[in-house]
Amino acid sequence: MAHAKTHKCFAKECQRDIPNSKLLCIDHWKIVPEALRDRLCEQWKYGLAWRCHPTPEYTQAAVDIRAVIESKEAPRRAAAVANSPLLTGGAA
Ligand SMILES: [Zn+2]
Repeated sequence: MAHAKTHKCFAKECQRDIPNSKLLCIDHWKIVPEALRDRLCEQWKYGLAWRCHPTPEYTQAAVDIRAVIESKEAPRRAAAVANSPLLTGGAA
């Protein structure tokens, strides 16, 4: 068998396998603001497709994207915990 052509989604705590040509699974990609996606795609072409290694700008865009996803998901996770029956005494 050929070596793996997939890796884990770059978003924190996401275990989904995705192709090596993608940074994020489709669900996480969808919540990234368009400006940030464009920035990443531009750097992808410039660094990886042409030079076969990521530019510092690509790496920075990826880090920014991860921070954006985390900031969008953290309140949702906190809300899920706050609504847990364990914390509200189980009174539904
Ligand atoms: Zn993901």
